[in-house]
Amino acid sequence: MKIPALALGLALVATLPLRAEPDPNWLDHDRDRPMAPVIDPGTASTNEQPGRPPSDAIVLFDGTDTSAWAAEDGSPTKWVVHDGAFECVPGSGYSHTRRCFGDCQLHVEWASPNPPHGESQGRGNSGVFFGFDRYEVQVLDSYQSKTYADGAAAAIYGQYPPLANAMRPPGVWEVYDIIWTAPRFDDAGKLLHKARITVLHNGVLVQNNVELTGPTGWINRLPYEAHPYRTPIALQDHHNPVRFRNIWVRELGNPRKPEYRLADALLDSYAGTYGKGHNVFVITRLPDGLLNLHFSDRDLVLHAESPTKFYALSTDVQAEFVTSGATKQIQVTVGEDELHPMTGDRE
Ligand code: MG
Repeated sequence: MKIPALALGLALVATLPLRAEPDPNWLDHDRDRPMAPVIDPGTASTNEQPGRPPSDAIVLFDGTDTSAWAAEDGSPTKWVVHDGAFECVPGSGYSHTRRCFGDCQLHVEWASPNPPHGESQGRGNSGVFFGFDRYEVQVLDSYQSKTYADGAAAAIYGQYPPLANAMRPPGVWEVYDIIWTAPRFDDAGKLLHKARITVLHNGVLVQNNVELTGPTGWINRLPYEAHPYRTPIALQDHHNPVRFRNIWVRELGNPRKPEYRLADALLDSYAGTYGKGHNVFVITRLPDGLLNLHFSDRDLVLHAESPTKFYALSTDVQAEFVTSGATKQIQVTVGEDELHPMTGDRE
C-alpha cells in the first residue's frame, strides 16, 4: 500500500527538539522562569526486592498487572506472571506495550533462567525493542558465556557491542536504564535524524548515545523506513523463559495526549465507508496500528487516544466511533467544534 506522504503525520514530530538547548525566551538566571516539576525519585532495587518507580513514571509492570501489555495482534499478552515476574512463554510471540512512546527513559529489570540452559544466542535470549519491533537492545545471558560481540547482552543488536560486560550470574536480576531518542522523518518519509540509544547496565554506561544505522537485524543491516514518532515498546520472545520485573517509562518532551496501539481486530472493525452525500468518511487501516481517514479530498492519519477516540497530528481533527447494536457511526470534529460533530453511519 502506498501511504500518502503527509499521511504518516510526521511533519510535526520532525521538529521536536532532539536535545535541550538554552531557550532564548528566558534571561540567564531569570527569576520568572518556571522551576522543574517536583517528583519523588523512588528507590533502587535490590536483588530480593524491586525498587519504587519515580512518581512521574508510567508503570508498565508492577509485579502483578499485565494489562499494559498486548500480544502481537493487540489481544491480551500470553506471557505469564510468576512470583512477581512477567515471564516470556516461549512460542507465544513478543509482548508489546499498549501505549506508544517517542523519546523516553525506560527502566526494565530482567533475569535469565537459572540454572542456565543453552549456549550463545540460545542462552536466556530476549530483547527490548523500540519503534514497534525495529530496534533491539539485546537481552541475553552473557555471564561467562561466549557469543558474538554485537549480540551480547546490552548490545544494539548487530551494530554496537556494549562498552563493558556488566553481567551478574544467571537468575540474578539485571537492570537496564535506557534512553531512547526516536528517529525523525520529514513529510515525505525522508530520514532527518537517526535513532539514538544510551544504555546503563546495572548502573554502568554500556551504550553512550550511539546512532543506529537503521533497524537491527540478523545478517542484514536494513535501511531506515519512515514510521510514527510514537510506537509500542516490545519484549522479545526468543524461545527462552526470560523474566522481567519493575518496568517503567518516563516520556520525554511533552506529548499532547497519550497514544495507544489498539488490537488489530478492533481496528479492522472500524474500517469502512461512513455517511452519504457531502459527508462521506472512509476509514482504512495503515501500518503501525494507525487508521487513515479520507474525507473532503484529504487523507489524515488517525492515532488512538482510547479504544474509540482518535486524533490527527497534522490537523486538529478528532474522530470517535460510536457503536449501538449493529450500527456503527463515526463522529468527526474539526477544530473546537465538539458540540457539532459531523456524523455518518457506516454503509
Ligand atoms: Mg534478542
